[in-house]
Amino acid sequence: MRTNARRHRNWSGSVRFSPQQVRRPTSEAQVLEALRIARERGCSLRVIGGGHSFSALAATDGILLSLDDWQGLVAADATTGLVTLRGGTRLWAIAELLGPYGLALSVMGDIDRQAIAGAIQTGTHGTGARFTGFAGMVRGLRLALPDGTIVDTSPTQDRDLFEAARLGLGTIGVILEVTLQCVSAYRLELVETTAPLEETAAHFLDDSARADHHEFFWFPRTGRATQRTMRRLPAGTARVRPARALELLQSEVLGNGTWELMCRGAALVPSLSRPVAEIASHVLAGPRVVDDSASVYAAPRRVRFHESEWALPADRFEEAFAALRARFAQEDVRVTFPLEIRRVAADDVWLSTAHERDSVYIAAHRYQAEQAGPYLLMVQRTLAAFDARPHWGKQHWLGARELAQLYPRFEDFTAVRRAVDPDGVLMTPYLSHLLEHRAAR
Ligand SMILES: Cc1cc2nc3c(=O)[nH]c(=O)nc-3n(C[C@H](O)[C@H](O)[C@H](O)COP(=O)(O)OP(=O)(O)OC[C@H]3O[C@@H](n4cnc5c(N)ncnc54)[C@H](O)[C@@H]3O)c2cc1C
Repeated sequence: MRTNARRHRNWSGSVRFSPQQVRRPTSEAQVLEALRIARERGCSLRVIGGGHSFSALAATDGILLSLDDWQGLVAADATTGLVTLRGGTRLWAIAELLGPYGLALSVMGDIDRQAIAGAIQTGTHGTGARFTGFAGMVRGLRLALPDGTIVDTSPTQDRDLFEAARLGLGTIGVILEVTLQCVSAYRLELVETTAPLEETAAHFLDDSARADHHEFFWFPRTGRATQRTMRRLPAGTARVRPARALELLQSEVLGNGTWELMCRGAALVPSLSRPVAEIASHVLAGPRVVDDSASVYAAPRRVRFHESEWALPADRFEEAFAALRARFAQEDVRVTFPLEIRRVAADDVWLSTAHERDSVYIAAHRYQAEQAGPYLLMVQRTLAAFDARPHWGKQHWLGARELAQLYPRFEDFTAVRRAVDPDGVLMTPYLSHLLEHRAAR
């Protein structure tokens, strides 16, 4: 177990912190030892996954626990589709681990750099009206609790603990293992098209209800949208990939290299934002692809940005989106990054952004070198009228009082949290702001 401490930052650079210690356990006993040290010193302990959250969830000035040396497959059952992974397992490694069993994750988001426990703890999701986010796939958890005990929990073993822990922001315990409901391996056909914004938005609920996976990107103040639609196909379907040179041109040059230069230029000369958004809205759509699911869902994101994302009741999407467009016009918004609109099925996870709501997600991004706060706050304020719930892993400015109104099981969650961690070993001031009306320890 290594214990070097140094200055840390999250992927977007918006959160910086210096833990007293960084520990990388290679056994359950070493996780318990780290919890014991935190208890004895009276300092906080936070687990970090891939460090890809835009919010300060993983930040601590106490002990930072990385499960990067605690990865891998524990068990897989090709008949039931149940798969148990160690908490630190990165998403990009899962396809290869499940390949021999003919299994795959039922859905994924835009990237695969996260740890599985990090993804479930914040309600990470992809798009698909029939699919929940990662937390909805969880069927069991093995946890190291702050008091130094290890428990296995599931819908039939301490149900309240399970409900709180499967999306617990890392405040219930250290996730040692997670059991997920997976599906038979499949391929995806991805088709990207550019279409007028009005018709894309007006048809979004129908299109997303019909397709397996459907989303669209809109560069604010432009008149068109880029739609991405994916169809699930049997694992044996022939692969279709554009020629390597074209793929590189699209993803590395247009998608990352040139895009970075354009965003950097617009950050220096804000009047360039509108032409940059116009150009990008024309060239974002790529060629048709058919390939293994994991390689179609995820793409590299090398141009760094800030992000907020809001989950709305699906039936309020059209009025909410219209309100946002009107506000952008009123404020003469100039940003180079698009909004991303996705759809996810309702689930019953206590703190899920899709808790008991068929949900549409609106994500707003801003280039890393630009000041993101005022723009993201404007989006927050506009969407507040539509009972929007913030993605836990992205930037927002809500606290416990507002969040309690948005989540019917919020008090049940905080009751479990207080019971398992009365001394707040897994808490920080940021988490107290989110979850407790009282001051942080
Ligand atoms: C480029 C980019 C693209 C993204 N795309 C999407 C997307 O498509 N869909 C989406 O929903 N989100 C997306 N996100 C957000 C991201 O998925 C979430 O913020 C996710 O939580 C990050 O996972 P991580 O492993 O980096 O976790 P971290 O950010 O390191 O940690 C997140 C939380 O998980 C806790 N945690 C981590 N490991 C454990 C453990 N073993 N036990 C207990 N708690 C633990 C941490 O304490 C923290 O509270 C994206 C983020 C970026 C930067």
